[in-house]
Amino acid sequence: MGYDAEALTKAVEAAVLGDAEAVRMLPERASLGDVLVNWCQMNSLWPLFFGLSCCFIEQATVFTGVYDIARFGAEVLRGSPRQADLLVVSGTVFKKVAPMVTRIYEQMSRPKWVISMGSCANTGGMYDVYSVVQGVDQLIPVDVYITGCPPRPEALMYGLITLQDMIKRKNRPLKPVLGLSGGQLGGRDDILEVGVSKDRDTRGPGMQGIPVRGTSVTPPGFAGSRSEEMWTPPPPVLEFSARQTVLRKAIEERFGELATWREDPVDMPTVTVSADHVVDVLKWLKHESPVKYERFEDLTAVDESTRKVPVEHDFTLVYTLTSLSAVERLRLRVPLSGAEPEAPTATSVWACANWYEREVWDMFGIRFVGHPELRRLIMPRTWPGHPLRKSEPHRATEMAPYLEEDVLRMQPEDAGELLRRLHATSPTKREFVLNIGPHHYSTHGVVRFVLELHGEEIVDMASDIGFHHRGAEKIAEHQSWHQYIPYTDRLDYLSGVANNLTYLLAIEKLCDITVPARAQCVRVMLSEFFRLSNHLLWLGTMVQDLGMMTPVFHTFREREQVLDIIETITGARLHPAWLRIGGLAMDLPEGWDTMVRDFVSGFPKRVRSYHRLISGNPILRARIRGIGPITLEDAIDHGLTGPNLRACGKEWDLRKVTPYSGYEQYDFDIPTREDGDCLARYEVRFEEMLQSNRIISQCLEGMPSGRHISEDYRYCIPDKKDTLEDIESLIHHFINATRGPKVPAGEAYAVTESPRGEQGFYIVSDGGNMPYRLHMRSAGYPTVQALPLMTIGHLLPDFIAIIGSTDYIAPDLDR
Ligand code: SF4
Repeated sequence: MGYDAEALTKAVEAAVLGDAEAVRMLPERASLGDVLVNWCQMNSLWPLFFGLSCCFIEQATVFTGVYDIARFGAEVLRGSPRQADLLVVSGTVFKKVAPMVTRIYEQMSRPKWVISMGSCANTGGMYDVYSVVQGVDQLIPVDVYITGCPPRPEALMYGLITLQDMIKRKNRPLKPVLGLSGGQLGGRDDILEVGVSKDRDTRGPGMQGIPVRGTSVTPPGFAGSRSEEMWTPPPPVLEFSARQTVLRKAIEERFGELATWREDPVDMPTVTVSADHVVDVLKWLKHESPVKYERFEDLTAVDESTRKVPVEHDFTLVYTLTSLSAVERLRLRVPLSGAEPEAPTATSVWACANWYEREVWDMFGIRFVGHPELRRLIMPRTWPGHPLRKSEPHRATEMAPYLEEDVLRMQPEDAGELLRRLHATSPTKREFVLNIGPHHYSTHGVVRFVLELHGEEIVDMASDIGFHHRGAEKIAEHQSWHQYIPYTDRLDYLSGVANNLTYLLAIEKLCDITVPARAQCVRVMLSEFFRLSNHLLWLGTMVQDLGMMTPVFHTFREREQVLDIIETITGARLHPAWLRIGGLAMDLPEGWDTMVRDFVSGFPKRVRSYHRLISGNPILRARIRGIGPITLEDAIDHGLTGPNLRACGKEWDLRKVTPYSGYEQYDFDIPTREDGDCLARYEVRFEEMLQSNRIISQCLEGMPSGRHISEDYRYCIPDKKDTLEDIESLIHHFINATRGPKVPAGEAYAVTESPRGEQGFYIVSDGGNMPYRLHMRSAGYPTVQALPLMTIGHLLPDFIAIIGSTDYIAPDLDR
């Protein structure tokens, strides 16, 4: 007996597609086979495990219990592009990582689709900067664009439904399979053509020469800026303590005119030294000074060539040292001149100066004589120029477009070559070189590691960073002080307002602003919520990397509760940009306390359940005990901070030792461990969650009343209600929101105990409405540099535990 094919097709449409109208829209009637192929493909998408930046955090959230993308048949994340047919490009497409994006796309099996998730992947977003490709469709075809910065998890689900809808309408997918002409397999198959369907101008082809409207292209020094005209007082001057006076005397006795003590620093004792003597001074400060500076905290540079008031030298090296024994900081300034300036390397005094000097060479072209491996660290090795020089372009749209030939030019260095450069030796024939990253399940962001293995034992390793370089420091030089706040959210994209806080503390130091008690308390409460959000994500993902599949669903459940509170208060989940100079953007909303109370009362019970589920698991403990240890001496010498330092037995937490934002008023403990291994790092972070909960409870119970922003309207954006009552407030609102406030000329460094460790912001003001120079000292940078100390001698699977336990994050590493 025959059958009615058309009737059967209709039955399939009705039963399987449930959308006969969609099928009727096909340009040519599809066969039953085509309909079935489309139906199968739309319901069994296999996304690649792939993410570039903050948008990926929201993408990953979609895979956990609250959002549950399994409902769409798209939860099977593939580790290899050859097994995947969907690439969700979530995050910023950095020029250094772009070659990997195209390679992955080429390696995917056909049919293949691409979703561009978030403003950065769509157009470069807020990163029109030298290191960022202005949209992934400059490189590969995109089927669906999702807007947002970041898009919410629901937006990704909507994007997926949109893609399924496209697949459902696909024309004759069987034809290319059968080798017949016509038909379509996979996503958009037209190749983008330069100047026709793609262009360096993010508005698309045909817009060349037409000025872009809006502040994004307004020259930063526009004429008649009223903020330049406004009077602001000079910055405050540090009153030297007795110990600092002793130090001054000792420096003057030892070095005489070779080291000049600055009389009017804002934040810490500051000494100017010539390049010829800087290494002697550093050595003396480390080993002989009455205040011993055990830690090399930071090194950066300032290009002095565009100062409003010209200075006599061209560049300044800025060293920051920390004394843990005396709780002191010291700044050394080293003036340099010439187009190719030089200074001696400090790697003989602190080995960890290695990366800092490489970065300064890379970004400023300052050569460190005697450095063991002076080569680029952040930028691609074929990059022309040194991007943080004032003469270098800052916008991607001022530069030539990033096209296929750049992909070829910016291929990463060969893995064996990286090892050879490191130790000037070749791996022996018996050794095996393993490349991990820059995109890998376990690297927690786009970072690359090269391991030299003897069997399973790691005998050497090299790190390759810079794949997440968003030019954040250069961007600061072209944004008003307020405009830069949203960029700080994204510097460590899991720490949100905790990053805002460090940046603002530096500005508030220069402006001498007193923040109202209520605003300080809210800042503390939100910072601790972000610590919880970070630690919950760390906990779930670290143990997932070690084979425990369940915990991430639990920790993300509580993380969603935390994000709900953050969103209720600030209006955003990851990137609230909610702190302002002198306070907050707004006061707390009604009902905040009910949500917070519910959370703090229930969270300890959840932590106990994590303990039963995770910490008490004997297999997990056996995998991380004794693995990746680092001694306290090495940890200090290499600049480790935060939980990674406290896991070595040092009770050093800036919230206690140099309290800020009122932390001295809270009762909490500093968890420490002695062994410095993965288990110790794990336990410190684990216990910190309960301490954060304690702090939040105290914020809840003791929330002061009063203003949410300082009344110092020379710098702060006035409270809206004040602008409706007096003209002065209105004028200041207008000027500070448009031109931005004028910050007194000077330099300041602020540092906080961020979730990952000590995060510092060094700012230089030239007395204008935007930073002259901004630099971020990240917590993860020294940690990743010190990884060989924790890694060599362990086994390959231990490496995954080690990098998970150190909890670095790519955006603050690369900035
Ligand atoms: S800045 Fe971050 S969150 Fe925003 S679009 Fe870019 S990657 Fe996504």
